[in-house]
Formats: sequence, C-alpha cells, structure tokens
Amino acid sequence: MSGVMCDLAIIGGGLSGGLIALAARRMQPERRILLIEAAPALGGAHLWSFVDSDVGEAEKALLQPLVNYGWREYSVVFPQYKRALPFPFYSLRSDRFDEALREAMPAESILTGRRATGVSADGVVLEDGTMIAAHGVIDARGPADLSLLDLHYRKFVGYELTLDGPHSVRRATLIDAAADPAEGFQYMMMLPIETDRLFIEDVRYEAWPDIDMTDHGNRIVNHAARFGWRIRSSARGQAGILPIALGGAFDDYWNSGGVGVAKAGLRAGLFHPVTGNSLADAARTALLVAGAQDWSGAALHKLLHDHAARAWAQRDYYRRFARHMLRGLPVAEGYMMLESLYRMDADLIARFHGMRLGLADRMALSLGEGPMPLKAMLGR
Ligand SMILES: Cc1cc2nc3c(=O)[nH]c(=O)nc-3n(C[C@H](O)[C@H](O)[C@H](O)COP(=O)(O)OP(=O)(O)OC[C@H]3O[C@@H](n4cnc5c(N)ncnc54)[C@H](O)[C@@H]3O)c2cc1C
Repeated sequence: MSGVMCDLAIIGGGLSGGLIALAARRMQPERRILLIEAAPALGGAHLWSFVDSDVGEAEKALLQPLVNYGWREYSVVFPQYKRALPFPFYSLRSDRFDEALREAMPAESILTGRRATGVSADGVVLEDGTMIAAHGVIDARGPADLSLLDLHYRKFVGYELTLDGPHSVRRATLIDAAADPAEGFQYMMMLPIETDRLFIEDVRYEAWPDIDMTDHGNRIVNHAARFGWRIRSSARGQAGILPIALGGAFDDYWNSGGVGVAKAGLRAGLFHPVTGNSLADAARTALLVAGAQDWSGAALHKLLHDHAARAWAQRDYYRRFARHMLRGLPVAEGYMMLESLYRMDADLIARFHGMRLGLADRMALSLGEGPMPLKAMLGR
C-alpha cells in the first residue's frame, strides 16, 4: 500500500481518535476516513468510566453503544461522611470499543499495527514507508510534551476480582477514602460487576509519575480483606498515570505536539485538570469534528486549536482548585477538599465534574465550609 488517499486521516486509535472516527463515520458516511493505530487493537487496555451528567444528549448517544456496565447512582465515602449521588455512572471496556469501531467502519478504514512516523496537516508517513495523502489529518497519539506543563499525577492500578462468595456492593463507589486517611491522598474506586465479581482500583495523587504496582496491589488485597472478601482470581488489570494540570502555557503545549497539525485528546490538552479524565472531552471533540464540513488540514487545525484553547482558558478555576488541593494543603489533607466538595448540592457537584460551574457555584464553593478558600479561588 503506498500513495493512499482519504478525506480524513486520524492518527491514534485510542479513546479520542476512535470516537472521532465513529462519530465522523456516522455523520458523514460518504467520506473516506482512515484510522491509524500502532497497536494491534484499538483502545489499548482500559476501563473508561464517566458520570451521566458529564455529557450532553448527543455525546451520550455516541457513547451508549460502547457501554459495558451501568449503575443507577454512585457513592462517595470519606472518614467523616458518605453519600449516594443520584447520577448514573457508566463504564466501557476497550475490547468493546475495538469491536464497535470494527462493526461501524469498513475494514479498509482501520489500519492497526501500523505506526505513523511522519505527520503533517495533510499527510502521514507510516513506518513501512506507506504515504497517505489526506484532505486533513488529526493527530490523536496521546500526550504531547507534558514536561511543558506544571503537573501533579493521579496514579492508579485496578483489577477485576472474582470473589469466593457474593459481595453486597450495589452502587458504583467513585471514592472510598474511609481507610488510612493518614497515608496520603489516596482512595479506592469499586465497581460491582456481578454478584461475586467487582472491579477495585487503588488511586493516589502524587507529585511524581512513577507507579509502584506491588504497593497498589497490596492495598487492593487489604481493601478486599477489610470487607471480609476472599479473592479467587483477578483479571483485566489496568494501570494509569494521568497528568493533573496545575498550570502551563497552552500554546507551547499545543505546538509541542506538532505545529500546524490538528490535535485531539490528551495531545490537545483536553482533560479534566482535577481528575485527569478525558472521556467527556473526547466525545465532545468527536461530535465537533463529525459535524464540520471542511476537513482540510488548515480548517481542522483552526477548529480544534480554538476549541482546545478556549477549554484551557475556561479551566483556570479547576487548575487553581487542583493546585490548592495538591500543593496548598498538607499531603494527608488534600482528600478533605473532595470531602467538602461532596457535601455540596448534588447538581453543583455534577456541574463541577462536567466543568460547567458558573460564578454563583464558584462563590458557593468558597463560602462557609466550602472546599475552595476565597484566596485560592482568586489566585492570591
Ligand atoms: C488505564 C487508564 C484508565 C483510564 N480511565 C479513565 C476513565 O475512567 N475516565 C476518563 O475520562 N479517563 C480515563 N483515563 C484517562 C484518559 O481518558 C485516557 O488516558 C484516554 O485513553 C486518553 O485518550 P487519547 O485518545 O488522548 O489517548 P490514548 O487513548 O492513549 O490513544 C492514543 C493512541 O495513539 C496510539 N499511537 C501512539 N503513537 C502512535 C503512532 N506513532 N502511530 C499510530 N498510533 C500511535 C496509541 O497506541 C494509542 O492507542 C484513563 C487512562 C488510563 C491510562
């Protein structure tokens, strides 16, 4: 294969690239799309989760066929406080993501096991020398130069565990910080899958990006023991080190991923500054591209640069929140900011997750027992 032509070439068949391909195929089936992924499968090895209220109706329609598991509500548990929040919570596995993309797209539109070595606004060169000429290219190969940002990290290791007997967990537990608060900013996430099967993930926020798999594994075993569960087997492990952006100049980061080339996903800086999550952003970006008529390299660059730059600017409040939580407080107290956040009005919490806080919300978060001191909000 050499000298391939297409309307849109998407480099990176991970979360963001895959969703763009799916949405673009649905909305403009007559145009030729190529999704180029270095790994043998699309989506890597992930269990991606999101809260229903993070996304709008159109994004939900895009994500719905990919969902493996859903819960009617989720809970948070802190040493002094626990609560159920009335928002559905969903998870999708990357094997379903791969399957759904292959069902939706013509076989010749997906190139897996093919690494891009050269990317420009309207062309791609693959490792085997194949040249692809595209009306426009989107680079979704994961992070650009993260060293240009002021970062903290959210690190986690999770396993799907089969237990010796049934557990009694019914809701998705987004945060369980009830045990060992003195050990630092860490908590567990728990997702019940079957009566004797659940996914447990050990999460911690730290200033350095290394991950200690053994330590995370031991904490998961201890967590199960706390509930009196005996683990029969474990499967589908995943580990992640997500960037938490405390600051940085957007344009330097954008350009570090390739000057003049349209970008999506982590490469575009589109992730939640407090959680590092990017699924809702990836779905929004996918619909933005799929709805655009002009897929030329220059038009896509402008569309996605302006979208990402606007999002970056609007998220300054969240970077301040993360800065105060992770640097302004002693390490073992950071999670208390989350504890007081989760005592607020449920709809306000949903707007926090979905990055839709208004001025009144921000004031509410800074008054009384709210999590964000006024000084930190104003950046003093
Ligand atoms: C284990 C894990 C779990 C996560 N869970 C959640 C979650 O629950 N909710 C949430 O919102 N966020 C979650 N995140 C954060 C974020 O959503 C993911 O990191 C997401 O996958 C980022 O999407 P992306 O498209 O930018 O990058 P990726 O999904 O990493 O996709 C980049 C793709 O580009 C490919 N690639 C790289 N170089 C080349 C090349 N030269 N040529 C061709 N292909 C190339 C890679 O193989 C990869 O498939 C999680 C992250 C991890 C690591």
